[in-house]
Amino acid sequence: MTERIFNFSAGPSMLPVPVLERAAAEMLNYQGSGMSVMEMSHRSKVYDSIIKSTEASLRRVMGIPDNYKVLFLQGGATMQFSAIPLNLMRTGKADYALTGNFAKNAYKEAKKFGEIHVAASSEADNFSYIPSQAELDLSPDADYFYHCANNTIFGTEWKYCPETGSVPVVADMSSNILSKPIDVSKYGVIMAGAQKNMGPAGLTVVIVRDDLLGYYPQDKMPVLLDWKLMADKESMYNTPPTYAIYVLGLVLDWIENEIGGLTEMQKRNEVKAKLLYDYLDSQSFYQPAARADSRSMMNVTFRTGDADLDAKFVKASIENGMSNLKGHRSVGGMRASIYNAMPYEGVEKLVDFMQKFAKENG
Ligand SMILES: *Cc1c(COP(=O)(O)O)cnc(C)c1O
Repeated sequence: MTERIFNFSAGPSMLPVPVLERAAAEMLNYQGSGMSVMEMSHRSKVYDSIIKSTEASLRRVMGIPDNYKVLFLQGGATMQFSAIPLNLMRTGKADYALTGNFAKNAYKEAKKFGEIHVAASSEADNFSYIPSQAELDLSPDADYFYHCANNTIFGTEWKYCPETGSVPVVADMSSNILSKPIDVSKYGVIMAGAQKNMGPAGLTVVIVRDDLLGYYPQDKMPVLLDWKLMADKESMYNTPPTYAIYVLGLVLDWIENEIGGLTEMQKRNEVKAKLLYDYLDSQSFYQPAARADSRSMMNVTFRTGDADLDAKFVKASIENGMSNLKGHRSVGGMRASIYNAMPYEGVEKLVDFMQKFAKENG
């Protein structure tokens, strides 16, 4: 077997090795059931215990209050860009903060369904920063306020949950959920595609405060976008992404029992990110792409300022056992995604390589 490499992919991304090992060990015969989780009826007793215990783990790990529903859906974060306005619009007005590509996609989709006010935008600075609370132009009569909590492509992260009075805050946490503790009660809706920090692609988690359910014209809502219906059916209106939910359960077990919970997870993530950002700040060969106060703990973006040198860096990094360091085309340069599953040694190896590359090419 070839050795595993340090995979800096933005998503789908690395999973913890103990999770992969357990999935492998349980592949042919899940706990005496005589079959793999992939082969089970989602209506079976054994699968029912998997989905219920995954939800219970997520509630424990994130501290999700009882008045929130947890939904296991498909269609990615992108399907939720449509579901959010459809489920939450009552007067047809919403505020959006545009801090990146995914926030903009969500905004474009919402505009099909209502009157959308741009509460803030960092687009003029190529999405290199997160607006402060004072910079948000909020509408007190909006049905909700939308933001993307971590901008995967640009490497910026909201360090605070916006204060919006009685307007519910909606957050796309696809790329920073489970990276640190958050106060769920500050949010109306949290949604995340699983493939960055939770598990395999194919699962999308929606956490929604229950008083926000059920206001739309029932007869017009596509069933698979209907949060109220999905909550009533316990995510089983149709076949849920069964295997991805099972793997999320394993990831949560790992966070809870091997890492020691989200506070400990955050400490580890901070140490990893600090190693890389401290190095970036100590030299001038590479330039960080995000403004210092807005830096993401999960996606670190930087460039040399020379596209050919960036390409050379990416090629050489692959030869040195690191993959997927090429930045998104809208930012250029490099991006190191250092989600929960990336070990400290991976970031150490990257920084060593960066130093060597800078010396040889500076
Ligand atoms: C990856 C990502 C998306 C898109 O997710 P899909 O599951 O591909 O639809 C949306 N928002 C953020 C923040 C992401 O990182």
